[in-house]
Amino acid sequence: MRQKLPQAAVSSWRRIPALLFGLVLAVGCASVQTTESGTVGVERKQTMSALVSEEDINKGAAQAYTQVLDDARRKGTLDSNPAEAQRVRTIATRLIPSTGVFRPDAPGWKWETHVIASNEVNAWCMPGGKIAVYTALIEKLKLTDDELAAVMGHEIAHALREHGRERASSAVNQSIALGVIGAATGAGQGTMDLAQLALEVTLNLPNSREQEIEADRIGVELAARAGYNPHAAVTLWQKMEQVSEGGPPAWLSTHPAREARQRDLEVYAEKVMPLYAQARR
Ligand SMILES: [Zn+2]
Repeated sequence: MRQKLPQAAVSSWRRIPALLFGLVLAVGCASVQTTESGTVGVERKQTMSALVSEEDINKGAAQAYTQVLDDARRKGTLDSNPAEAQRVRTIATRLIPSTGVFRPDAPGWKWETHVIASNEVNAWCMPGGKIAVYTALIEKLKLTDDELAAVMGHEIAHALREHGRERASSAVNQSIALGVIGAATGAGQGTMDLAQLALEVTLNLPNSREQEIEADRIGVELAARAGYNPHAAVTLWQKMEQVSEGGPPAWLSTHPAREARQRDLEVYAEKVMPLYAQARR
C-alpha cells in the first residue's frame, strides 16, 4: 500500500490507468480469512486488493480454463485416455465434499476436472475449482490413488485459500499489472485480461512458501477426510524428487525446502490419521 508510481513511468497514455490506480489505492485492501482453520489449524490473515474480487478472478479463471481445454482438444491431448480421466474425476468427486469443512461455499463451486497429455510433471487448480492433471505426473511417477489424492488435495487447497487472488492482489499492488488494472476497472477489454491474470497466477506467478505450507496441510486433511491415506503426501514428494535429476523441476523450485516440507507433511499427516480412520469406517 506504500506503492507510489515513479513520475517518469507515468507517460501520458498511461495517465488514466494510473489515476484509477491511485483511486484503487485509496479504496485499499481488505484483510480476510478465506477459510476455516480445520483440524490442521491453518490461520493467517490474507490481504486482498479491492480491485481483484473473488467473482472477477473466478470469471477470469473460468475463461482461461476454457481456453486451455480448447487448446488441448485441438491438439488431441484432452482426456485422451478415458480410463485415466475417469480415475482422476473419481478422486476429485471424493475430495470435493471435504472442502466444506474449510469453506461452506466450496462444495457448491462449479468444479471441473480434466487430464491433459503432457510431458510436464504438473497439476493445478485455478481459482473457483478448475482442475487439470498432466499425464506425466500420473505416469512418470506411477502415482497410487492415495498419492494422486495428495496432489489434488494440495492444489484444491490453493483454490480454497484463494492463493491465486492473493498473488494477483500483490501483483496489482506492485503495479506489475497496470494493463489489467485499466481493464478491471472497465477501461479496456476486461474479460480477456482477467483470464490472462488467472492464467498467470495459476501457471507462472509462484506461490509463496507460506502458501505452499498451507496447501500441504489443508491438502492432507482433505485427503484424509475423503478416505485417502494422508501419509501418501510424503511418498508423493519422494517420488517427485526421484524424477528430477539434479535438483527439483522448475515448478517445484519455489516450494519450501524439501526436508522441512517432508517433516511438516509427516506431522500433519499423523495429525489427521483419526479423520482417515473415521472415513474408512
Ligand atoms: Zn503448491
